[in-house]
Amino acid sequence: MIIVFKKSATQENIDHLLARVDKLGLKSMVSKGSERTIVGIIGAEDVVRIQPLEVFAGVEQVMSVLAPYKLVSREFKPQDSVIKVKDGVEIGGKKINVIGGPCSIESKESLRAIAIEVKKSGGTILRGGAFKPRTSPYAFQGLGEEGLKFLKDIAIELDLATVTEVMDPRDVGLVAKYADMLQIGARNMQNFNLLKEVGQTKKPIMLKRGLCATIKEWLMSAEYILSEGNFNVILCERGIRTYETETRNTLDLSAIPIVKQKSHLPIIVDPSHAVGKWGLIAPLSKAAIATGADGLMIEVHTNPEEALCDGPQQLLPENFASLMGELEKIAKAIDREL
Ligand code: PEP
Ligand code: MN
Repeated sequence: MIIVFKKSATQENIDHLLARVDKLGLKSMVSKGSERTIVGIIGAEDVVRIQPLEVFAGVEQVMSVLAPYKLVSREFKPQDSVIKVKDGVEIGGKKINVIGGPCSIESKESLRAIAIEVKKSGGTILRGGAFKPRTSPYAFQGLGEEGLKFLKDIAIELDLATVTEVMDPRDVGLVAKYADMLQIGARNMQNFNLLKEVGQTKKPIMLKRGLCATIKEWLMSAEYILSEGNFNVILCERGIRTYETETRNTLDLSAIPIVKQKSHLPIIVDPSHAVGKWGLIAPLSKAAIATGADGLMIEVHTNPEEALCDGPQQLLPENFASLMGELEKIAKAIDREL
């Protein structure tokens, strides 16, 4: 922690702060320049962080040297984490996994038809929402437990892993009973009670980036889950809100290498919710893999015109199949597998 004093700070101001640091049992180093004084506090950054040092007289700025997250940081674990979703399906290793499926589970038959196409093209994980976070309370809210049963039955039938969203801490046990991986949606990234609840399971958790969240806030949310004992977290970049109106959100590709530098957790990309337009999914998926993403989540529907949710962004199976072929070439070029 570095404390920068104002030019006008008095020796009394500096001594007062040093006395507090001393009382905390920490060491400090004082650097007196011709313009201003800087104090470096050594050790126990988290002890210092909770002290309101900004309010001490004469203090201009308090700067943290270490990231506020610990367990998710590369310093804590230098090796990449590889998260097992199901036997034979791991995220974060050499293999790039593609999650495919409809926005929401609409019926058993339609889910099966879509899942067959996802599997045929090389997708390894089936997605589909049973509890849907809709902007309007009048829009389709999902089939609930019935939808979860369809998801599980079809995944067993086709030997696919599954991921689905859990929106309410009270539903964590229920959703965990049916799905291999739990999704925390963008709108719930800072629902701390939900994060704590999924942190108490051993399930892999796919944590989406909040609509307006910084990378630091997103990693702090992941820290909530790890701090409860669940280290099986996969981050998912799904676009952030910017002033651009051509796309639903703006896909932040730079988040991929930044997360890789700062954290050992795997990161996947959801271009579907990032842009909201099916015609942009292929180029952005390719870019995400080339940038180092460990996987993709792509909405696929056999009849997007009739979809109950997110029709304009869902890929037809034939487009999903040709995209998978393209992605294979990119994966090979960067020494990965699809
Ligand atoms: C989804 O994946 O179904 C979804 C609603 O995404 P997001 O939370 O990213 O909007
Ligand atoms: Mn959707």
